[in-house]
Amino acid sequence: MRESVGTMDLGLEGKSALVCAASRGLGRACAEALAREGVSVTITARTGEELERTASEISTATGQLVTPAVGDITTEEGRAAALAACSDPDILVNNAGGPPAGEFREWGRDEWVAACDANMITPILLIRSVIDPMIERRFGRIINITSYAVKKPLPGLGLSNGARAGLTGFSAGLARETVRHNVTINNMLPGPFDTDRLRSNVEALARRKGISFQQEMQSRFDGNPSGRIGDPAEFGATCAFLASAHAGYISGQNFVLDGGEAMTTL
Ligand code: NAP
Repeated sequence: MRESVGTMDLGLEGKSALVCAASRGLGRACAEALAREGVSVTITARTGEELERTASEISTATGQLVTPAVGDITTEEGRAAALAACSDPDILVNNAGGPPAGEFREWGRDEWVAACDANMITPILLIRSVIDPMIERRFGRIINITSYAVKKPLPGLGLSNGARAGLTGFSAGLARETVRHNVTINNMLPGPFDTDRLRSNVEALARRKGISFQQEMQSRFDGNPSGRIGDPAEFGATCAFLASAHAGYISGQNFVLDGGEAMTTL
């Protein structure tokens, strides 16, 4: 958080959450924010050692039960491991790595299937696995981490633009069917946030341009109306609010968190 702020009871004490792809970055920030609200959290990632370290750090910081479930969430086995650790969550945060950048003429069926698997089909299958018990309990919050590229498609990121738009379209329809049961589905669309992924992209670009990391980072700050990039804790706090008891009337929406960078009125 950039400054100390007061707290609001989000009504999440005792709930459970499955947060996918959460050993670092935005997923981790969501898991941390939820745990701080009294949610017991299951987190997933492919690298066991880092995942376990993250689980124990969040647990120490919040006093909550944090369960690591190792696996690649884009595979059948990875999803089974996540659901074995947390079969009946009140909150599902869908997340996975983004597809690579590139030139669409070079992408064949395999590249498209991989992108759709990770950023569209995996979240849809997880939603299918958890939604009916949520409806029966009359409480459920599903949050998909997508990208501001959904509103402002980025050149070179066609795989991401396409696959994430598919998830957005699907969720928009389902969200209207479930909200009457107090089960909401919303998307969070990150712009630039200070995560390992962003730092490694900035580093690679700086090397290509022959400038320093700090210079390239500064150009990101300058290109954003806020004059900075996002703090993952801000992303986590928004996720916790969307998961909260107060957010039952918000469904099927796309929340852009980008400091105003995407020039769009919608
Ligand atoms: P990050 O810092 O690289 O963290 C990614 C996390 O996801 C790690 O914990 C990673 O752990 C895990 N992960 C990746 N692929 C996985 C898989 N197949 N199965 C399970 N876990 C997996 O990334 P981030 O910046 O938080 O980005 C999260 C999402 O937001 C991505 O889809 C990204 O494209 C999108 N996004 C980010 C930004 C930004 O500025 N940060 C902007 C727009 C969109 P393992 O590697 O150990 O699996």
